[in-house]
Amino acid sequence: MMLQTIVFAAARSRAHGPTAALWHAVELHRPAAEVDGACELTLCGALARVSPEQQWPVAAFDVCPACVPLAR
Ligand SMILES: [Zn+2]
Repeated sequence: MMLQTIVFAAARSRAHGPTAALWHAVELHRPAAEVDGACELTLCGALARVSPEQQWPVAAFDVCPACVPLAR
């Protein structure tokens, strides 16, 4: 049995008041197909919708600054 590594998925939060929509990291405990489109708790404690087609780290400018150091 292989040692399971922690896999991160990218999740998109919604714009909420003054907070812009950002890409967050979500720790995957289930296959990515099972969390497709699901709202999951991100590493920084926000709720965001998982986009399995988007790989973490996200090559975008609007990435959550709190999730980046947590998802290393
Ligand atoms: Zn975040």
